[in-house]
Amino acid sequence: MSIEIRNITKTFGDFVALDDVSVGIRPGSLTALLGPSGGGKSTLLRIVAGLETADSGAVAIDGVDATRLPPQRRGVGFVFQHYAAFPHMTVARNVAFGLDIRHRPKDEVRARVEELLRLVHLEQFADRMPGQLSGGQRQRMALARALAVEPAVLLLDEPFGALDAKVRKELRDWLRRLHDQVHVTTVFVTHDQEEALEVADEIVVVSNGRVEQVGSPDDLYDSPASEFVMSFLGPVTMLGGRLVRPHDVELLGIAVVGSVAGVVEGVQRVGNEARIQVGVPGAPSVAAVLTRAALRDLDVRVGDTVWLRLAKGATSMAATPASSPDDAARGAGSVLTGAVSAPR
Ligand code: ADP
Ligand code: MG
Repeated sequence: MSIEIRNITKTFGDFVALDDVSVGIRPGSLTALLGPSGGGKSTLLRIVAGLETADSGAVAIDGVDATRLPPQRRGVGFVFQHYAAFPHMTVARNVAFGLDIRHRPKDEVRARVEELLRLVHLEQFADRMPGQLSGGQRQRMALARALAVEPAVLLLDEPFGALDAKVRKELRDWLRRLHDQVHVTTVFVTHDQEEALEVADEIVVVSNGRVEQVGSPDDLYDSPASEFVMSFLGPVTMLGGRLVRPHDVELLGIAVVGSVAGVVEGVQRVGNEARIQVGVPGAPSVAAVLTRAALRDLDVRVGDTVWLRLAKGATSMAATPASSPDDAARGAGSVLTGAVSAPR
């Protein structure tokens, strides 16, 4: 089922949380609402769910105007970051809850719960209490519960946000596979660009109550529409007055036409990556990322002179001098950033 969000504006007092937001979500897609904290993602999701009312604008689900429908009539399943299970009910009863309150026949409920528990790989935990599950298992139970009533759309607000990195990674892969099996139109909120790039078919970048860009993970990564999107989707640095990704900065042992000379200020190994900081006279340092093998070949150390240039096919954009350091600081990466003067 499609979701059509048209000209949604939402204010809290005189604070504008959503400013004329329009987005179309394709039927059967897995879409991420991605952006920094406080940008309006949850508010938008809650408006789609009917848990929050917009000041103006409309929401249509599967072509039907849902703007004034109560949540229970929108056909949405909702999962929050901190899932509140009924602690006194077994996992199976928790999953069955939505069907029980709809007074569905007992046999049908039993069969459906079994099917769902298989789907989320919790079949052996049917008779446990939620308190006896791990965090990841509880979120899978939450998803099974949301899917039980066969929602037209599934809305997930940072569903894995409260879990540790390893479990989150597992659940991401699992969500992607689940979606490939079930195909329910799914919108999930995340502030984690890696989660969005890895899992989603389509990403809606939301910041300051506005949609910055909509596109596939590749579109956004390769052709960011703004400095903001570029720096939010991954680490950035500046080379020759342009915003570039550190892995697109080439380090050379000799001068070539169009390269900028600099002096290595720092070399930091992190796993298979080497992060190199290069000082350029009269400007802050440039960050470059090499593989460990490339670092070995280049054999540079602190104090060595190197030459920098932009790799072929690299994504880059002219940086607005005034806003660049801030944008860079908001970037997702931990790589140091800085500006260099334009190559002469
Ligand atoms: P996100 O999910 O992107 O972190 P939210 O949608 O939760 O952002 O919030 C967007 C902005 O709206 C935030 O500044 C938040 O403080 C504000 N906000 C959200 N809900 C309310 C509310 N019920 N009352 C007042 N302000 C709110
Ligand atoms: Mg939120």
